[in-house]
Amino acid sequence: MRRLAYIAAALAWAAFTSAQATTPDWSALEEETMRHYQALLRFDTSDPPGKELPVADYLKQVFDKEGIPAQLFALEPNRPNVVARLKGNGRQRPLLIIGHSDVVNVDPAKWKFPPFSATRDGGWVYGRGTVDDKDNLTATLMVMLELKRLKVPLDRDVIFLSEAGEEGSTRVGIQFMVEQHYREIAAEYCYAEGGGVTRVGGRVKYAGIATLEKIPFAIELTAKGIAGHGSVPLRTNAIVHLSTAVGKVGAWKPDIRLNETTGTYFRRLAAISAPADAERYRNVLVPNSRTQADADEYFLDNEPAHASMLRTSISPNILTGGYRVNVIPSEAKATLDVRMLPDEDPAAFLETVRKVVNDASVDVHFAARDTRPRQPDARLDSEAFKVIEANVTKHYSAPTLPTMLTGATDMAYLRAKGMQCYGVGPAMDVEDGPKGFGAHSDQERLLESELFRFVRFHWDIVADLARAK
Ligand SMILES: [Zn+2]
Repeated sequence: MRRLAYIAAALAWAAFTSAQATTPDWSALEEETMRHYQALLRFDTSDPPGKELPVADYLKQVFDKEGIPAQLFALEPNRPNVVARLKGNGRQRPLLIIGHSDVVNVDPAKWKFPPFSATRDGGWVYGRGTVDDKDNLTATLMVMLELKRLKVPLDRDVIFLSEAGEEGSTRVGIQFMVEQHYREIAAEYCYAEGGGVTRVGGRVKYAGIATLEKIPFAIELTAKGIAGHGSVPLRTNAIVHLSTAVGKVGAWKPDIRLNETTGTYFRRLAAISAPADAERYRNVLVPNSRTQADADEYFLDNEPAHASMLRTSISPNILTGGYRVNVIPSEAKATLDVRMLPDEDPAAFLETVRKVVNDASVDVHFAARDTRPRQPDARLDSEAFKVIEANVTKHYSAPTLPTMLTGATDMAYLRAKGMQCYGVGPAMDVEDGPKGFGAHSDQERLLESELFRFVRFHWDIVADLARAK
């Protein structure tokens, strides 16, 4: 027994010291983390036009200095993507970690601090890209540097990708990489943007991890009638037919359909919500029930994002028709923003819209749109997701909610290739949104302490998944 106890103690000590040797000294790394974060924020990569080249050069220099092989891939010379790779022993397929280097445009007049100054003030860092997506770019960079410096043995390659063009010109970014250089980024799993930790009143409530997203489509309604003199109203008036059609589509509630992600999301959200909210989140899980319909009605009025998560959604967003007050136009057109559930059959859905419109003078058809490929859910029983859940508990003492994004991200291109992609992000105050801080808002900021916590979290999810076992 004594001998066994001795061996157990020795083994525990060995495990402890090896964990020590492969755990970064984070407090010593905060200065460096902040230096890279501010440097990345100070490049104006507003997209359009993007101009991600200086960011790519910066990253390449940092990787070169550390002896990490890195390469630029550019469809347009000014807009390169950067790939860096740390080799594993090949026992498992690679892990891809992503940040995008472009940002959305700014109106500098709306900013208290200049948008590309990366000003530190009162514990915050201010600047375009602080939460979209130079936070992920910084975290993934720091993870790469530390894996290399600590010579962490890996069971799988860890691939870093800095993407250009995420904000509306995926042609030069993810599409280019998937279509022309997929070999460089092919992986079993990926961690990218799209998730985040929600704080309410300064306390962490939950982590939302993006495991699925809806697919954007555009549907056009074109009404045709007979042109004529406005003094003689016609029953065939295209504007009348079109507006009736738009009214029908706007009032229509496509069927509710839950999937593994949204079902788990509402169940887990119920577990951490106040009783009245919790009841609604549970009710919505009961198919075709009166209580489900009531919960849906409540969401449509008060929590529209939840209503959109339940179904394929339609929002009529553009109307065109008519040009003079005294002329009955022969044509009028409406454009609908349609966000399909990932398992929706587009052709069948279009047919249903036709039935809802039910007017032979209104043509219902798909219009051109920068859409995304169909994709399955990232699995919730995968090692990558379990590692995320464990580390959300470890770093944030909070539950993990898998989420289906109503918007579209670059992960769709990778999921369509069979990669299991999970969207992660740092903690943000829910109160910051209405104040006008947040991704794509008039201003953007992140708490310094939450940047550092996110880097530690990101290290753990990568190390736990890739480290040699
Ligand atoms: Zn983004």
